[in-house]
Amino acid sequence: MFNIIKTRIKEGIKTKKINIEDIKKDNIVIFNEELKNKLLNKSKNKNFTNNISVRVVDSGSCNACLHEMSALTNPYYDMERFGFKFVAAPKHADVLMVAGCVARNMYSALLKTYENVPYPKFVVAIGDCAMNGGVFKDSYATLGGIQDKLTVDILIKGCPPEPIDILAGLLLAFGK
Ligand code: SF4
Repeated sequence: MFNIIKTRIKEGIKTKKINIEDIKKDNIVIFNEELKNKLLNKSKNKNFTNNISVRVVDSGSCNACLHEMSALTNPYYDMERFGFKFVAAPKHADVLMVAGCVARNMYSALLKTYENVPYPKFVVAIGDCAMNGGVFKDSYATLGGIQDKLTVDILIKGCPPEPIDILAGLLLAFGK
């Protein structure tokens, strides 16, 4: 920790350079066919800009996935330099990013948020919980992730996934 602070004081915070060729893709799954059709529809929409707005739903996570997601906005990962930004309203979003195992109490809120994202909407599942319930999959209180509930376009594996994997998944999927 002391070394990190010393380096930051000496050199300042440097934004991480990302070379897409060097990124390990084992943790990133992109469901290409559906995604391609949606991207085609998006590009036909005159109002669509190159920016991608992301609405996050925590469907019942332990918070670690959310912390990794919020790291995307810090000066080190800085996802906004690529045109990705978090938005509060689902109606302003292109992407629904979901973390957590889908707690029973969150299911209807998740569906309502999904319905309010305009078509064509992209769904990104963050972490093993969102994929299949992860460590919570046997709990009576959860529904076991979003994979069989929503059409998932991008899946980022991990518990929690690293911010670099999340960012790389977005970059690969949206061809940035
Ligand atoms: S995948 Fe792991 S880190 Fe993410 S919400 Fe589930 S238990 Fe927490």
